Amino acid sequence: MADPSEIPDGSPGTLPADGDPIVGLIPLIRRVIAARVRDAQTVDDLVQETLARVMAARDRVENNSLAPYAVVTARNLVTSTGQVHQRARQNAHLLVDETPHPPPDERLLRREETSLVGAALARLAPAEREVLLAHEVEGRSTADLAASRGSSPGAIAAQLKRTRAKLRAEYLLAHQGGDLPTDRCRPVLYALSSGDRRRQRELDTAGHLLECDTCLDLSVALFDRRPLPETPGEATVRVSVDSDVVTARHQGRAIAAMAGFNATELTMIATAISEIARNIVKFAQRGEIEVRIVDEADRIGVTVVARDAGPGIRNLSQAMQDGFSTYRGLGLGLGGARRLMDQFEIASEVGVGTTVTMAKWRSQSAGLENKGAGR
Ligand SMILES: [Zn+2]
Repeated sequence: MADPSEIPDGSPGTLPADGDPIVGLIPLIRRVIAARVRDAQTVDDLVQETLARVMAARDRVENNSLAPYAVVTARNLVTSTGQVHQRARQNAHLLVDETPHPPPDERLLRREETSLVGAALARLAPAEREVLLAHEVEGRSTADLAASRGSSPGAIAAQLKRTRAKLRAEYLLAHQGGDLPTDRCRPVLYALSSGDRRRQRELDTAGHLLECDTCLDLSVALFDRRPLPETPGEATVRVSVDSDVVTARHQGRAIAAMAGFNATELTMIATAISEIARNIVKFAQRGEIEVRIVDEADRIGVTVVARDAGPGIRNLSQAMQDGFSTYRGLGLGLGGARRLMDQFEIASEVGVGTTVTMAKWRSQSAGLENKGAGR
């Protein structure tokens, strides 16, 4: 079925109806990334991440330099993230709590991986390393380890969990090579890897990820892949930590895909959800995002409702200004999310909370024809 408003593949310079040159770049970004990364979920993540960065940089980049800027950004992200993610999965036997069979690998790759894991193990405290290896390699049970150390099985299990989280972060660092740019990076990565919410808040991991490209790249690989929504057509995601941002955008994207949006529109929707979710983590600490398909007589689309009980926004018109962001100039902010969607409403009361309601409709000109046509 031809969709008249769909941006033709192979013409990155073509502007879509709303005329935003960055949105016109999405097919180009997708092609650059899809040519280098096989995993579809990783492609989606990287396209969204690239889009967010290009939008955040629009003040610094001339319109006619946006395409090359997007290509370079996409390539850099693929290099730093895509491979790391692939390798991390091949090491799943050491890096996750379950123990699946390691896939058959070439000898050379194995040797390289062994040295990376070795480097990561070397970063652990001796006691942590000893317990982890006794459990993983010698197969000693937590009860056995607890008895020999005057501890409890529960405490040993908790220690193992923390150690694995550290190892996962150190493994990614060893793979990437190079130094971390700040002293905060390592604690932030440990906190993200372990999923420790209290620690993440203490360290302001969300704020750090928006300032530190190194940690942002690594965090994409650290976050687990979340399952698809249970009820087709709707999902509610609780948002309080950085990994919830990833969950919200994955689920939002999955639902929008069910509504029949094209790849470019899916990226726009997922990026808008991502920005709104980041706002919740940063300013409200806790909230939820609800995404659902809306199927009306004359149109089909998705609505996104984000609610939080945070401090509220004092100056809404300032908060909505393009480029305005309390993330010190990084991130798209609310104005960016509004540009990506067809409808955007915000209600905020100081001391009570904020509700953002957004909607995107499938290409309006095609909506009526497509409806019920069995896409
Ligand atoms: Zn960092």
